[in-house]
Amino acid sequence: MRSTASILHLDLDAFFAAVEQRDKPSLRGKPVIVGGTGGRGVVSTASYEARRYGVGSAMSGREARARCPHAAFLSGRFHAYRATSKEVMRVLRDLSPLVEPLSLDEAFVDLAAADLPDLEVATVTEVGEQLRARVREVTGGITATVGIASSKFLAKVASELDKPDGMTVVPPGTELDLLRPMRVNVIPGVGPATSERLRRAGIHTIAELEAVSEDELVRLLGQAHGHGLWQLARAQDHRPVVAEREAKSISVEGTYDTDLTDRRLMEGLLTRQAREVGARMRKNGTSGRTVTIKVRLYDFTTLSRSSTLPSPTDDGATIARVARTLLGDLDTTGGVRLLGVGVSGLADWVQEDLFGDTGEDEDDEVVVPEPPRRAWPPGADVEHDEMGRGWVWGSGSGVVTVRFETADTPPGPVRSFRADDPALHRWEPPAEE
Ligand SMILES: [Mg+2]
Repeated sequence: MRSTASILHLDLDAFFAAVEQRDKPSLRGKPVIVGGTGGRGVVSTASYEARRYGVGSAMSGREARARCPHAAFLSGRFHAYRATSKEVMRVLRDLSPLVEPLSLDEAFVDLAAADLPDLEVATVTEVGEQLRARVREVTGGITATVGIASSKFLAKVASELDKPDGMTVVPPGTELDLLRPMRVNVIPGVGPATSERLRRAGIHTIAELEAVSEDELVRLLGQAHGHGLWQLARAQDHRPVVAEREAKSISVEGTYDTDLTDRRLMEGLLTRQAREVGARMRKNGTSGRTVTIKVRLYDFTTLSRSSTLPSPTDDGATIARVARTLLGDLDTTGGVRLLGVGVSGLADWVQEDLFGDTGEDEDDEVVVPEPPRRAWPPGADVEHDEMGRGWVWGSGSGVVTVRFETADTPPGPVRSFRADDPALHRWEPPAEE
């Protein structure tokens, strides 16, 4: 914890859904749900209009449909999310050289490394507001919520308090006043299982957590987690903002244009990635104990699973064996579009710190067979030879219905075509860089 509120956490609001509403003018102000379009799919992001009906991330598509049947259910367009995220990260890097992205829609910024006259509350508040305005400007209207505080933990907690399109600055010295009444699950790493264990021990709030001895917490939750929680309950968090994430872990991941469904193929890809991770570790002279796999499902739900070995390794075969076992516990029947393997050298219990989101396509030499592709997924970009650009409104029984509009047009007309109409094509963005 620093003596100044100099760590900023920025979180884009309902990011995937917001990008869809920007690019599909007819959906602005309406409930939009990204993910959950397939029979087994889950919701990735719901717009705030859909959240009012009780729809939230990780809910099954079936339940989301029951709660909000009139929502637009879209399959998601990762290229658009990634391009918009890049613009936002660029804005953050203009402010400070120390930016640590956590995912496409979230990052920490170290304001102490920015060129500011001072780090007084009034100054950083002004910087935060200017940053939010700049993000809205470069993204064509996507809003962000910002938290500014003396540590990563508090900045992240603060950015949750005034969503959407808001900001909270925690003045140094007031951290514990803010934390004490909060429930323990605001602490990153406290998921349902840990919450439940704490609840059974009578611990619901951070004030209650603060009253428990470190020995007791270690007994309840294990060494690393117990010690970490004991510190965070006191707002003690000294983690620096790390721009170069490769320093913390070595990982390799690949994104695939078509959803992978073949288990054997996925295991083969993981094995290959694990070998590459092992080779890089040996080259760097490092080793690590924690092996993590990252799997992004067809609906953009991103899962990660970790396993910690009794001793450090840099052996590709060992990493591969653990990675395949971890994959075995995941339900991937809906299809997978990203796979990754990483090894962390630190006993770091914050899993989200293991991966950067920028290392895609590192193993593009792997030949991935074409799995069958849904030709006209809802929400996908299309182009018609005469009508121009639009998006798939719906399809079935050999018919595709398209709404012709883009971010730069007013709400556009809807037309239907035969699914095999030669004038209708999927639209892909021009190659990046
Ligand atoms: Mg967000």
